[in-house]
Amino acid sequence: MQARGEYAQVVKSVILSLVALLIFGTAAYSEDLPAPLKSGGVVLTFDDRNFDDWLAAIPLFEKYHANATFFISGAIDEKAIATALELKQHGHAIGSHSVHHLSAIKYLEDHTAADFVKNEIEPQMIAFRAAGITPTAFAYPMSRNHPETDKELLKIFRHLRTGKGIDSQRGIIDYDEFFVPVEKIKETGLLFGKGIDFAPVRDDRSFEKIDAALTRAAQNREILTLYAHQITPIGKGNFITPSALEHVLKKAKALNLPFFTVDQLP
Ligand SMILES: [Zn+2]
Repeated sequence: MQARGEYAQVVKSVILSLVALLIFGTAAYSEDLPAPLKSGGVVLTFDDRNFDDWLAAIPLFEKYHANATFFISGAIDEKAIATALELKQHGHAIGSHSVHHLSAIKYLEDHTAADFVKNEIEPQMIAFRAAGITPTAFAYPMSRNHPETDKELLKIFRHLRTGKGIDSQRGIIDYDEFFVPVEKIKETGLLFGKGIDFAPVRDDRSFEKIDAALTRAAQNREILTLYAHQITPIGKGNFITPSALEHVLKKAKALNLPFFTVDQLP
């Protein structure tokens, strides 16, 4: 009887795994983890659907041997897939940024965290998986994370990215949230990113402050997460210029500070 019970348990767990595989592809928790990282580094991320900008920036990333992560919002349609595959081919990673780009905090006023996963994440994951892409991270739209969705999403993703505004009188280095000691990155699911759109024009993201942040990450062996959107000399909405981006890439290189994609984070 007991053996039969165990057999039934095994069958049940195999079926559950297959269902999970069908929905999420290779579920993050069953995946082989990347090797532990040996140095600090920068997790450079870009959001939304700025496909043409991102593809155009590939040579710039290549010039500095830098890889980034691109969090795609909306339908994972033909254009999204083609862009994602090309970015991946160049060593970049693809993450989920949800279907409708909603604030999770607001969403939870009349939905559950499970609804968020079902309506905002699963449709993207199914389409990504069909194209052979398995995102390991999610970026919250408008940096509006909530502990309930954090918990639910960390069953699917190894890392979540949110953000945090800072007092422009202070430095990025004054906020420990942006810096995760490399040996703690595995247990730190929620990463706080510092926005660098409009660098160096806005006071909270001058080159002086960004350079100091990169220097801190290198010296203390910490992972620093940064985010931006479009990559264009003149844009509407949120953008970083190619020259400002190059400043970041160049400074990190001078510090011997590598760039990690979210897929490289254990
Ligand atoms: Zn966004």
